[in-house]
Amino acid sequence: MKTPRLIQLTPDADPRAVKGALTGLGLWPTALQDERGEVSAYTLDASSVPVTEERLKRIDGVATVLSSPSPHPLIDEQAKRPLMVAGHLFNQAGSAPLLISGPCSIETEPLAFEVASHVASAGGQWLRGGAYKPRTSPYAFQGRGEEGLKWLRAAADEHGLKVVTEALSEQSAQQVATWSDVLQIGTRNMQNFSLLKAVGATGRPVLLKRGLCATVEEWLLAGEYLLAHGAEAVVFCERGLRSFDSQTRNLLDLGAVALLKHSYGQPVIVDPSHAAGRRDLIAPLAKAALAVGADGVMIEAHPNAAEAMSDGPQALNRAELSALGVTLRQLSPQLTQDTTEGGAQELEAEGSEDLNITLSEAGIRPLSAR
Ligand code: PEP
Ligand code: MN
Repeated sequence: MKTPRLIQLTPDADPRAVKGALTGLGLWPTALQDERGEVSAYTLDASSVPVTEERLKRIDGVATVLSSPSPHPLIDEQAKRPLMVAGHLFNQAGSAPLLISGPCSIETEPLAFEVASHVASAGGQWLRGGAYKPRTSPYAFQGRGEEGLKWLRAAADEHGLKVVTEALSEQSAQQVATWSDVLQIGTRNMQNFSLLKAVGATGRPVLLKRGLCATVEEWLLAGEYLLAHGAEAVVFCERGLRSFDSQTRNLLDLGAVALLKHSYGQPVIVDPSHAAGRRDLIAPLAKAALAVGADGVMIEAHPNAAEAMSDGPQALNRAELSALGVTLRQLSPQLTQDTTEGGAQELEAEGSEDLNITLSEAGIRPLSAR
């Protein structure tokens, strides 16, 4: 696992040679000096690739390698084997991409049934939709509550879909669990630890959206907290970070998706709807998401965007959703050959050539070979 590491040098080590060897392995070392001002150790920065302890010990001049235990052992554990969540097998090479779709908000009963039929015919497996809506303004529409949950459940059941929907408060967590298969934690609540505790206690799987400004480590820790409080599984959902550019609603961090998938072996979904905030970018971003290793995408859909009560500009209509479903299915056979088999990968790497060999053993093909 990727944990903080301290590499102590032997008294006769050549620090520059050790630094060169570390850098050659794709590691970012920071020197630590002893009381005489000489380099006696290196720490490895977070942007380093994972390399085994045994490999580090073989470097000339390395005396000891100290690693602190992972702060998210339960999350590390879920990476070790295929993970079945609401009928979808994550962490399994060759698994078809998961398409989650539905309206931003479950506005009416007929809408729930109409969109569920669109999602099912587009090849979707999970129906999404907010009955409890977090909004940018507290004065905006906040959802239909339990009535909306019931519509969502009935519509999903009619079309053989699973339900994922957001739990917004500790008081309603159990109610949301009653009507859904997967509970969503929204971006504004990723670090609302009392809510995470209540949602974890339902024992259900959780779709954990990344906080607007959260680091990957904070996101992993929130996932750990959910598992520690009883969640069956945690699926991470990247939905874009707050950024300086206003031409997209948020900044989709596909680097973090690749990291979570290829380095941490986690189940990951990408939500291009909230990331881009614009319909025209959803298909290209969804394809990019699968290309970097996402297990699936979550897409907002509405039959009549002009009348949507929330997020209309980013909603796909029936034809657009069907077309996207076809595109993703066509793309997936090529991509699944390239994805990892799941499980955090620590690479036993020598130089860049050997690194490529090891990457391919790990199921990751170097970019140059694609
Ligand atoms: C949503 O998925 O409906 C939603 C509100 O998303 P986010 O929490 O990412 O803003
Ligand atoms: Mn929305």
